[in-house]
Amino acid sequence: MATIFTKIIRGEIPCYKVAENDTHFAFLDINPIAEGHTLVVPKKETDYIFDLSDEDLAQTVIFAKKIAFAIDRALKPIRTGVILEGLEVPHAHVHLVPIYEESQNVSLRNKVEVSKEKMEVLAKSIADEVRL
Ligand code: 5GP
Repeated sequence: MATIFTKIIRGEIPCYKVAENDTHFAFLDINPIAEGHTLVVPKKETDYIFDLSDEDLAQTVIFAKKIAFAIDRALKPIRTGVILEGLEVPHAHVHLVPIYEESQNVSLRNKVEVSKEKMEVLAKSIADEVRL
């Protein structure tokens, strides 16, 4: 059965899309821990990120780097942090979390409220800065 991320990539479930190429897809996390919290997902389904081949893992990091720079340009955080957890969704992904202040709680348990309207604005502002 397809993962929820595969359904998002196929357009079967809506998302706040940021970018995609042939092999990767980026969209806002639906339960963000900071405004602009973005997920980067290889289109090919693999549960554990370290089961990716070296080449696929490298391509995932390179794609994530481009999205992180887009977040940096769009939202001007101190920097964009990276979290790899993978406990909830069995489809490898990278969390990109804009860090706006040094005291920010960057735990994945620290969800913040972001309105649908704001999510749309965030996704578009990041998407506009993506240079693949
Ligand atoms: P992890 O698997 O790394 O623990 O976390 C999975 C992340 O995926 C969570 O931060 C969760 O909010 C996010 N997530 C789960 N289901 C959906 C969904 O349907 N849409 C989006 N955009 N994010 C989701």
